[in-house]
Amino acid sequence: MDHDVIIIGGSFAGLSAAMQLARARRTVLVLDTGAPRNRFAVASHGFPGQDGRPPAEIQADLRDELAIYPTVEMREAAAVTALREGASFHIALSDGSETTARRMILAYGVRDTLPDLPGLTERWGASVLHCPYCHGYELNGQPVGVLARDEMAMHQAMLLPDWGPTTLFTQVAFTPTPDQRDMLAMRGVRIEEAPVARLIGDGPALEAVQLADGREIALAGLFLVPQTAPSCDIAAQLGSATKDGPTGPYLDIDAMQATSVPGVFAAGDLASPMPNATLAAAAGVMAGGAAHRSLILDPHLSLES
Ligand SMILES: Cc1cc2nc3c(=O)[nH]c(=O)nc-3n(C[C@H](O)[C@H](O)[C@H](O)COP(=O)(O)OP(=O)(O)OC[C@H]3O[C@@H](n4cnc5c(N)ncnc54)[C@H](O)[C@@H]3O)c2cc1C
Repeated sequence: MDHDVIIIGGSFAGLSAAMQLARARRTVLVLDTGAPRNRFAVASHGFPGQDGRPPAEIQADLRDELAIYPTVEMREAAAVTALREGASFHIALSDGSETTARRMILAYGVRDTLPDLPGLTERWGASVLHCPYCHGYELNGQPVGVLARDEMAMHQAMLLPDWGPTTLFTQVAFTPTPDQRDMLAMRGVRIEEAPVARLIGDGPALEAVQLADGREIALAGLFLVPQTAPSCDIAAQLGSATKDGPTGPYLDIDAMQATSVPGVFAAGDLASPMPNATLAAAAGVMAGGAAHRSLILDPHLSLES
């Protein structure tokens, strides 16, 4: 067997998992294609000890920390196929090589699909945002909007007044009930039913949205709930069960980050309905420890369902 554990995805979740295994002197291969989900943001917020640093710098530090452990190999390559045969996994890589491992940790994240509106995609991560905790503070209390895709807009619209005066753009996608209208009114949220037609402003900054009826509404930030899908289909190839989340499917895991496939663990956005770098790192720590425990306590995967 080439490695004790192969980790697919070398970002917050995958590198945190690798650290646990490295410290147990286990052989680990981390595969990564260098496209973490938050690469569109100039700064990452809320990660303990790293608040406000560029995401790429944080990830580079995580890789540097791992590089001193001799049993860890990091390779810039994609996992293309994965097959379980008994207690071993066979993985084909985008560089044409193949390798084997006794356990797998899936940490390859998700990709976002955004609404198709002029001026929106180029502002993603700067002034078009999904998470007020991550980037709301930097908007300094200026007016913000919520672009509805479905009822999840209600959740964002209820939270956002803590970050600035809020307008909910229902976008012909969400009709608040009378009770929901009362709740929004209590939070001071304005409801706008004319659809947003385009976003206006210099560079990545947002100055206003223009509505289909021609009116412009000044905004510094527009929040939305993207649709998400796994970044690749390795979990599907392995037959790992999923659950439906508010933005898309995510892997069904137990409290030890084990998927429904014996010997396969998962961590981070791929296996959680709550995208957050710190939560991804914490889940990675758990997955790394759980994979290690599984190698010792159940070497032939016979005890796991
Ligand atoms: C615009 C934006 C801003 C954000 N800002 C913040 C913030 O300020 N604070 C915060 O806590 N959270 C933030 N988030 C959420 C945060 O980005 C995610 O929660 C976090 O990146 C999840 O980490 P992860 O390790 O699960 O996945 P990712 O960070 O997405 O990493 C997955 C890795 O797997 C690799 N990969 C994919 N497929 C393969 C494959 N087949 N083979 C090998 N490698 C593969 C990718 O290249 C990538 O490097 C933000 C998200 C977005 C979209």
